[in-house]
Parts: sequence; C-alpha cells; structure tokens
Amino acid sequence: MDRKNTKFILCGIAAFITLEASAQHDSPELPKGKREFINKADMNVNVKPGDDFYEYASGTWIKKNPVPAKETRWGSFQQLRDFNINAVKSLLIEASSDKNAATGSLEKRVGDFYAAGMDSSTIDKLGFTPIKADLEKINSIKDVKGVLNHSAWMRTAGMGSPMFGFGVGQDRKNVENMVPQLFQGGTTLPDRDYYLKNDARSIKIQDAYKNYIVKLFTLSGVAEAEAKANAEVIFTIEKSLAEAQMSRVEMRDPYKTYNKLAVADLSKTTPNMDWKSLLSTMKVIGQDTVLVSSPKFFVDLDKLISSVPVKNWQTYLKWNVLKTSAPYLSTPFVNANFEFTKALSGQKVQTPRWQRMSSLTDGSIGELLGQLYVKKHFKPEAKARMQELVSNLVKAYEIRIKNLDWMSPVTKQKALDKLYAFKPKIGYPDNWKTYDGLAINRNSFFQNLKNTGTWKYDEMIDQLGKPVDRTRWGMTPPTVNAYYNPVMNEIVFPAGILQFPFFDPNADDAVNYGGIGAVIGHEISHGFDDSGSQYDKDGTLRNWWTEEDKAKFKEKTAALKIQYDNYTVLDTIHVNGQLTMGENIGDLGGLNAAYEAFKMTKQGQSNEKIDGFTPDQRFFLSWAQVWKGNTLAETAAQLIVTDSHSPGQYRTIGAPVNMDAWYEAFNVKPGDKLYKKPEDRIKIW
Ligand SMILES: [Zn+2]
Repeated sequence: MDRKNTKFILCGIAAFITLEASAQHDSPELPKGKREFINKADMNVNVKPGDDFYEYASGTWIKKNPVPAKETRWGSFQQLRDFNINAVKSLLIEASSDKNAATGSLEKRVGDFYAAGMDSSTIDKLGFTPIKADLEKINSIKDVKGVLNHSAWMRTAGMGSPMFGFGVGQDRKNVENMVPQLFQGGTTLPDRDYYLKNDARSIKIQDAYKNYIVKLFTLSGVAEAEAKANAEVIFTIEKSLAEAQMSRVEMRDPYKTYNKLAVADLSKTTPNMDWKSLLSTMKVIGQDTVLVSSPKFFVDLDKLISSVPVKNWQTYLKWNVLKTSAPYLSTPFVNANFEFTKALSGQKVQTPRWQRMSSLTDGSIGELLGQLYVKKHFKPEAKARMQELVSNLVKAYEIRIKNLDWMSPVTKQKALDKLYAFKPKIGYPDNWKTYDGLAINRNSFFQNLKNTGTWKYDEMIDQLGKPVDRTRWGMTPPTVNAYYNPVMNEIVFPAGILQFPFFDPNADDAVNYGGIGAVIGHEISHGFDDSGSQYDKDGTLRNWWTEEDKAKFKEKTAALKIQYDNYTVLDTIHVNGQLTMGENIGDLGGLNAAYEAFKMTKQGQSNEKIDGFTPDQRFFLSWAQVWKGNTLAETAAQLIVTDSHSPGQYRTIGAPVNMDAWYEAFNVKPGDKLYKKPEDRIKIW
C-alpha cells in the first residue's frame, strides 16, 4: 500500500538499474510552439566550456529556475514528469467523470480509483477508522511466535514489510526459475547511516522521525507520554536492524548477496524463526530453498526477536501499520507525514492532492491507466524511430567492442554475444496486466488500497513454480526513466521518456543522439558495468571474462572511481565513486556509443551549424541539457547516501571529460579547469 512497497512488489525482485533516481512529482507545462532544441538563452556563454561545461550549457536556466515549493528537485526529468502527471490528471478526470463508463471497463476502474482518492471529505470524516481494526488485532499477540506470524501476514495484506524484505524473482544463477527471496530491511529512514551517524544533519532527522512517530500514535488515540515511549522503542529496534544491515556498496555485489539456503538450514541459523511455518503464512508453498541476500542480517534479527520484549514488537508492528497508511488517511495524518518528508527532503509545500492521487493510481493500477495514457500520448512513429535508434546504438556498440585495445578476442566474443542478445522493450508492455479479481469501489478509498496490496502480493506469489514471464514491465508507461534488468538482459524505455528533451521526432540527430541515444547507450552499458558485466547473455550470474581482461577492467573502473570521488556536493560531501560506479560506467559507455552512432548519420558527418552550433557541439549540449537541474540541499544530502546515480552536474561533465571529441568540439585546452591529458582520459567501452 505505501508507495515504496507497492513499487517493490510491482518490480518483484530484479535489481533494476535505472537511469535516474525514482520519481518525485512535480508544475508548469513544457513550452509550446516552435521549439529551440538547443536554447542559447539557457546557457551561460560567459563561462568557458572547458572550465565548467555544466554552467556553460545550462547556467542561465539554472539561475532562472529555482526548485518550486512543492518539489525537491527541478530539472529536465522533473519538468517532463510534471508534464506527464498533468497528462495523467486529464485522463483521470475524464475517466472519473464519465457517467456512461461500463462496469469493468478501463475508464470505470481507473476513474473510480482516482475519484475515491479525491474524495477528501469522506476520507477526513473517517479519521483513522480504516486501520483501527488492524491496530487492535496486534494487541492480541501473545508471544514471539505470534509476532512473527502476524508480521508475515501483514505483508500479504499490503501492510508494509516489517522486520525484513521479501519478494519473488528470478534465481540469478538459474534464470528460468522464479524463487522466493529474503532481504535485509525493517527500517524506515532512507539508509542505515541515518540511524548510525551522529552528525548534526543525522540528529536533526532522527529527531524529526521520532516526532513523526509520536504524532501518528497520538493521532490514533495514544496518550502523549506513551507515544513518546513508543518512539524510543521503535527507534531502538530499527537502529538494531540498521546495524545488522550491509551497506549499499556491499549490496552491489551480486555474489555476496547470493546465498541459496535450504529452508531447513536457514531455520537452523535462526532458531527463533521457523521458516517453514513463516513462509506458509506468507503463502509460499512447496519451496525447499530460498535466496537470502544477507544471512548475517537474519542471524542478528533472530537474536533481536528473543531479546526484545513482545510488547515492544507489538509497538513496532503498529508503527508499520501507521506509517504505511498515514499518507492515505485523514488530513492530520497526511500533514504529519508531510512534516516528516519536509525534514528529510527540504520540500516546502505539500504536493497537491490531485498529483498525489494521480501518482498513486499510476503506482497501483499502472497498466490500466497506462493503456489510456499510450492511446493518447504515444505515437507508433515514436516506437519505430526508437527501434531504429536502438539498432544503431547496438551497431555502434558492436564496433566499439571490436575495436577495444584492452580486451582479448575471447572475452570480446562473449561481450558481443551478450550485446546481440539484448532485448529492448519500448513504450509499453505487449501484454497488459488485467488486474482480474481486484475490486475497486468508488466509495472506499482505503479498501481499494488494501485490495491492491493483497492483489499485488498474490500476483507476485503466483509466479512461483511457473515459467518466467518475459513480457513483464518494472515501470509504468508514463514513467520518465529507463532501466536495464540483468537477469532478463533487457533494456526498457517507457513511453514517458520518449519526449523532449530526450527525444523529439522533429529534432536534428545531434539532439536525439545526445539525448535518448545516450540513454539507450547508458542502459546497454549497464550490461557491461561493474555489476552487470558479471551476468552473461542469458542473464545468468556466471563469469565470462578471462582473468587478465577482468583485471584490466578493474583498473579502468578504479580510475573512474577516483574521478567521481573527487566531485563534491554542498561543499563538503563527496560523491561516492564506488556506490555510483555502475551509473558512471553507464554514462561513459553510453555517451561514447551514442557519439559513435551519431557519427554514422548524415548530420554527424557534416559540419553544418544550426543556431550557431556545430553538430558535435549540439550533441554534447543535448546531453548536458538532459542533466540540468536544481536540488534542495536536504535532498542533495540524502541522494548522496542513497542514490546510485551521481548528481546531474557531474553526470554532465563526468563522461565528456574522457572523450576526445568533446575537447575538439569546444576547443578545450591545457589550463582549462576540466582539462584531462589525453593519456588520463578513461576509455572503458
Ligand atoms: Zn543507469
């Protein structure tokens, strides 16, 4: 039910590698009329591109476009998301006001879901009634076994993921099998660091979190003193869980996080947790083994289960009900939730209700809404053009792999095999989910959410023991993002991103190759980044590298780590070159491949200027304008810890400074601040 959880279930387990941090929402429309694909008015031409390419390409835009009050970031992604969410809103208003929509029709189901969410007067009248029974049920838990069983049941009902994470996904060493998978989890703050660090920023957020807990408990009828005690109990439990968790960098290792255990053996390492019984409560039947991302986490959790009093676990479970539901209850709950969001992200003003409900509809029944969206907003020509671009990018990648000077022919052949096996998905799914059996009622918003949570859970479980469904999508059509899924070896581009500034059928090739072309190249490169390159052409986690080639690859990626480690955000906080490694390799490989493909076009081979810029300049400026943007300080600090992508400013310059063509296009010379000697320029793919 909560957005995060819904999304998690939707995605199953596959560790999708996305283009950009997942969506926040957003305001004004894209400019209409004649479009300047590279707009000089956005640039700051008083700065030398070789000194600060980001400022040169987008400086004026950045100065003129502060983050709007209801946003945490504002740039190309958010502008386009804003445009899309407005398009979605129109569809939802139309669907919900269609009195003639037939029962069971797309319009009826989508329209009812949205209308129920917009009925704030009913929602306000109900207060916390929709979760009263769920909170009371927790009072009747008597012992540790009851705690575990109830927490297992809660996740089947869409009531969050207490204690640990769980999902169904492909076994990455046997990709034809769907298997149950257990993850570390059980915490609320964005990263384990938030519990473990004691600097001023962390303390401030810890305090805001405790206040949030107190607020939700008191709103649900608990006396203030008890609510305060609850906050300490919950924070202490979550802090212990955070201590047991691996860091994000450790979690990037697909071997370290692959632990296949017989259910009976797992139970031996966690004597308080009878996994046979727990899995059965979680509706997992007939599975003898389970994949565990972090066995140590479960050992520590097990110790915690016996050392923390049952009464405290009850408080923790109630908190999971409260925090999962708060954004969808009456105004005081929604406001309390926003106060906490504010402290975390710096956002000034609550996102309007229509926008939250549009996003929720997309996150809940996105493949119903998506059908309405693509009917109106996705043109078949765009799909054809994308197919052509993808195939040109693959061609360019092929040439680049063949020409690599550091890789042996035997590994090259394996890399080419993998390249040829990539499966692109463009626009929207071939097979839409029908959400059969999901009851949506115009008069019961919260019940709709509960039904959705249960439906999604059941749908996920239903995949166990069945052939892998390769038609599934991990993002909905209006999404402005893209992903690579290593176990499917697929690159996926939702309809939402196939628009300006990424892509415009009327733009020159330089603009499209520097935009969506580089996005395609980026996703392909994820198949060859430090993590993705450990999966073979079938998506199996299996080494296909010679030792020597692997060592050379590691040397190159280590140099890239140093380059990004040296970038700072908010003066003192550094980019984490290890955490962002995969994305940085993606950008470097992707931009190079896009440039290679661009040079095969007619414009790529000419020198004809458009609006005063050469084709190569337009290519790099297009790349830069994709990444322009402003970010609130609080959000920037959070993203540095949680986001595997580097900030836009450094994505703009990080790849070009390693490309000879960029030096030539902008006449970048020794002495310029971004200058790297030719022998220091990092070339991987
Ligand atoms: Zn990426």
